[in-house]
Amino acid sequence: RKFEDKDFMSLQELGSGNGGRTSVMKVQHVGTGTIMAKKSPRLTACLQAVLVGPRFDVQRTQRQNILCELQIISHCDSPFIVSSYGACFAEPNICLWMEFMDKGSFDAIYKRIGPIDVKVVGKVAVAVLEGQRYLYDEHRIVHRDIRPSNILCNSQGDIKLCDFGLSTELINIANTFVGTPIYMSPERIQGAAHTIKSDIWSLGITLIELIVGQFPSFDSDNNSDSECESERTTPADHRASLPILTSLGAKRHLRRSSEGASLQEDGGTTISIIQLMHQIVNEPAPRLPSRKFESDAEEFVDACLEKDWERQMGLAKLFEMPWIKGSRQNGVDVAAWTKTF
Ligand code: ADP
Ligand code: MG
Repeated sequence: RKFEDKDFMSLQELGSGNGGRTSVMKVQHVGTGTIMAKKSPRLTACLQAVLVGPRFDVQRTQRQNILCELQIISHCDSPFIVSSYGACFAEPNICLWMEFMDKGSFDAIYKRIGPIDVKVVGKVAVAVLEGQRYLYDEHRIVHRDIRPSNILCNSQGDIKLCDFGLSTELINIANTFVGTPIYMSPERIQGAAHTIKSDIWSLGITLIELIVGQFPSFDSDNNSDSECESERTTPADHRASLPILTSLGAKRHLRRSSEGASLQEDGGTTISIIQLMHQIVNEPAPRLPSRKFESDAEEFVDACLEKDWERQMGLAKLFEMPWIKGSRQNGVDVAAWTKTF
């Protein structure tokens, strides 16, 4: 359906992403009163293009991302995928109007309420797997950007995937560093093609983040011990050169240095995206703290984060795992849970 900006009233900014290059607004359709979420490139994209340099046309890339996204989303019909109402293709205002998810994204939720009950996270795992299966079976695509901010929730208790801006091959990976390196699998970092397995890795990282309430550490000195609450590293905000997102811990501060942005922790150690990518490739995969949560959950996360690509399970096998089977019928009422915050 063809929408125009003038048919909508802006209500509230819901967030911005990709290093501030996109903005999502809560809007109301004037004619029908329907509440929707509108995604569009930000006006500041032009300025950012200047900051980043002439070879990196942010605005064009971003528009292309949104175009990809709406081509796919407009053909999706699944309870596990955010649906689309319509789009506006008129340059420069490529916009996408989608279903408004009133409880927002899971990164915002855990940052507000702390670690999420592992039983609720089980429901998230089921929804993400179902969303992935739908995208793969019906559209032969992999999501490519699984992370907490792209998993949304509403007060009816629905959990849905959004954001397929990176899902197609239309984007030139060579000159725009796409994807979110922090959720990126070792294989992807080393240049392998993105497959469903890379998405499964990202799901594993996402699940730990939601259960523990923090982006996991990839530093083997840090993540082997379950009891001691070790300092966890958080990736640096490197938006000056890479379109990635951060999940900043409360105590950490951004610092810009000559080598680019890095993140300073209280102890004074810093970690850059390059270091983090190096760790993802070379260090053992992160794990849930052992024996602190259901062993089925531990087993599932370990399966997602299998670094031996030959041994990593595909979707069909993951669906058969005890945690997923159990989570389908664990009696958790997600709608009731959303009323608690
Ligand atoms: P990112 O996913 O990197 O955070 P986006 O531009 O995709 O950036 O989205 C920005 C924020 O807007 C998200 O983090 C999410 O909280 C919110 N958001 C996105 N889509 C919706 C939606 N359909 N309903 C409600 N909130 C949304
Ligand atoms: Mg997003």
